[in-house]
Amino acid sequence: MMEVVEDIVIVGAGISGLTTSLGLHRMGIKSLILESSDSLRAAGFALLTWTNAWKALDAVGVADSLRQQHQLIERMAVASAIPGEPPSERLLKTEGKYGDHEIRCVKRKLLMEALERELPSGTIRYSSKVVSIEESGYFKLVHLADGTIIKTKVLIGCDGVNSVVAKWLGFKKPAFAGRSAMRGYADYKGGHGLEPRYLAFFGKGIRCGILPCDDQTVYWFLTWTPSSQDGELEGNPEKMKQFVLSNVHIPDQIKAVVRDTPINSIVASPLRYRQPWELLWGNISKGGVCVTGDALHPMTPDIAQGGCSALEDGVVLARCIAEALTEKLSGQIEERISEDEKFKKIEMGLKRYAKERRWRSFELVSTAYVVGLIQQSDGMIVNFIREKILSGFLAGLLKKRAEFSCGKLRIS
Ligand SMILES: Cc1cc2nc3c(=O)[nH]c(=O)nc-3n(C[C@H](O)[C@H](O)[C@H](O)COP(=O)(O)OP(=O)(O)OC[C@H]3O[C@@H](n4cnc5c(N)ncnc54)[C@H](O)[C@@H]3O)c2cc1C
Repeated sequence: MMEVVEDIVIVGAGISGLTTSLGLHRMGIKSLILESSDSLRAAGFALLTWTNAWKALDAVGVADSLRQQHQLIERMAVASAIPGEPPSERLLKTEGKYGDHEIRCVKRKLLMEALERELPSGTIRYSSKVVSIEESGYFKLVHLADGTIIKTKVLIGCDGVNSVVAKWLGFKKPAFAGRSAMRGYADYKGGHGLEPRYLAFFGKGIRCGILPCDDQTVYWFLTWTPSSQDGELEGNPEKMKQFVLSNVHIPDQIKAVVRDTPINSIVASPLRYRQPWELLWGNISKGGVCVTGDALHPMTPDIAQGGCSALEDGVVLARCIAEALTEKLSGQIEERISEDEKFKKIEMGLKRYAKERRWRSFELVSTAYVVGLIQQSDGMIVNFIREKILSGFLAGLLKKRAEFSCGKLRIS
């Protein structure tokens, strides 16, 4: 059996794992990422990214190339469930706490490649599925499916909604929201001709929207509460497409994009989230172990902040680890610091990260859940609230949650 020794091991090469590793690299710290797939997985095609995400992408130094590849979304238009009523439009590109808001619909593949490209070669070990974690003094023994054991001082779980690291820390399996999501994208070779706006429809039991990524690509999503007959939809893109097209309430402009979407560009999945109170008392870090991204705060996609906050996590964690490792212990010479003291420093760094992220995670998971309930529900009172009050309130709320700056990293 092979045993390898590392300082920092990250589980998962998704948005959060790549950002954490790149953040550490920018601070001059090496890490190893273990990824179960044999290449980068960009499931879900695209994601809406808010101002807070761009602050994080700036911090790790990959924002500018992505800015050039994706257009700014200037407005949000919410279509009415009442036939003939015009959509209510709100400006998204307004001035916020950190300057003008920046909102773009980013292609996941481009985002992940931009992060991966900046990592030193050999940082990601593909086909490396973590199956269990064991404690051994100051170290953690990470067992891989192929029998390899990796010994590490710091273990960071960026392994998504089914995280083995979160389970080791004592978190429960994320709960089902009782809703599912479909996502897809259509490519228009000659240009789609759409305005740079987020067109959405909420109500009658569904939430859906379209967003242009660039001049040619349009991303769409739909969330709904499946009935028992919808069971077979998830594995059948043909049926998924029919389901959207036959829904009478969806605005024609959204239907047109779904109609133009090839079958192999549609996926569906059930939605899961962490009970928010678990985030208040759970162990975000313990010893030399912690979690980020969906492993920490899986949320329903209703405020489009899961990936954005995963980017924030990566920057904050990289800074906390770097500060802990470079902090001088009162007057001591680095070489004389015992293993015990080094371990305590790292533990303090991870604790600082947990403290910085606890309330932010709680706030995002709970806002997403409540917004989803209101947007999707169908009842006279909720419809009235949603159409008369919420559409205006929503654009403001989305921008408010995006008003967060993870701070900068010292680029080495
Ligand atoms: C329908 C839907 C729409 C969304 N829309 C948006 C949006 O518009 N904006 C937004 O910001 N967010 C959005 N999100 C959320 C966003 O997709 C996630 O928050 C984000 O992808 C989380 O990234 P992550 O790196 O934490 O996890 P993941 O992307 O899940 O990555 C985890 C990685 O770990 C690997 N892995 C897992 N287990 C192991 C193991 N045992 N060993 C080794 N590797 C392992 C996986 O292969 C994967 O590569 C949406 C989510 C959904 C479901």
